[in-house]
Amino acid sequence: MAREVYIFNPGPAVLPEPVLASTSKAVLNFAGTGMSIMEVSHRAKQFEDLLNNTIVLLRKVMGIPENYKVLFLQGGASLQFSMVPMNLLGPGKVADYIDTGHWSSRAIKEAKKVGKVNIAASTKDLNYARLPYPSELKLTPNAAYCHITTNNTIYGTQWQTFPDIKGIPIVADMSSDILSRRINVADFGLIYAGAQKNIGPAGVTMVIIRDDLIGTAPENIPTMLDYKIHAENNSLYNTPPVIAIFVVHEVLRWIEDLGGLGEMEKINNQKAALIYDVLDKSSFYKGTVEKASRSKMNITFLLPNEDLEKAFLAEASKRKLIGLKGHRSVGGMRASLYNALPLEGAQRLAELMVAFEKDHS
Ligand code: PLP
Repeated sequence: MAREVYIFNPGPAVLPEPVLASTSKAVLNFAGTGMSIMEVSHRAKQFEDLLNNTIVLLRKVMGIPENYKVLFLQGGASLQFSMVPMNLLGPGKVADYIDTGHWSSRAIKEAKKVGKVNIAASTKDLNYARLPYPSELKLTPNAAYCHITTNNTIYGTQWQTFPDIKGIPIVADMSSDILSRRINVADFGLIYAGAQKNIGPAGVTMVIIRDDLIGTAPENIPTMLDYKIHAENNSLYNTPPVIAIFVVHEVLRWIEDLGGLGEMEKINNQKAALIYDVLDKSSFYKGTVEKASRSKMNITFLLPNEDLEKAFLAEASKRKLIGLKGHRSVGGMRASLYNALPLEGAQRLAELMVAFEKDHS
């Protein structure tokens, strides 16, 4: 099955071809049951095995220590904006939030409904064109946690090294760069990510939570919003998104077959370097982000004017390069180079950029 297009969509995003192939088989007949993955019971042994294998694979691929639980929830990363403070931000506590864009702002908005929030730093005044410098962070001693967004999907910034916050759990929204590189899970108290960029389809949200942060919610928390309930029930308190978890399993197998996150990271570095090299050599394109804050997942850049941007998108579409239009708050282009975008996709985009500049400058 050779794909006809290269998909640069910001999410839902491109999935690996072998994953699409194995999922289409399971849609017709899952694990020899004669039932579709959409028909099988979530209490069936075949599904429970799949769920447990998915957790084992994720632990292996990410190197998740024993004292963390893996949960598969629903409601997207957006529900985590509420669940995190509802579970971790009890009365008398303060949570630090680092504001690096649209999604951090949404997380802050929800946390403020629950408890006391300190904005430890914000680069809003710069239209989020860089991450805060370490010297700009105004952290609260003994904060309940410090929330960061590891990759800012809209603005094209990404933490390459994480803030050093001794003793305070870092809660990280990794929706748009999870599984793209090696990280040390033990540096974080809680990691969450909507699946629809690097993990699988929309409909499942992954949470990796350190044991001591489970069971800290107030008594009156709604049952479905309590991490403890989901941890005690191995994400089977209610009907989980069965097919979405199947796809996550297949994506993890694909990463493992490729050689794991070290290999994934190498390929992602190559893809990003191809595009940034063109930007750095050009006086036609203008990257929107300060170099040290650049994302390897979402690359944002402007052309000299809107007419040229329209022409660029039309030429991209002719060359079967899909989903490059930037978000309205930045404008220009955004190339999302998630895991499943093949290296050739980035090569094709780099070729287009060079040819287009030659023709129009
Ligand atoms: N956080 C980040 C970094 C995102 O990129 C997105 C979506 O693009 C979200 C959160 C929201 O995710 P969801 O739509 O799963 O709620």
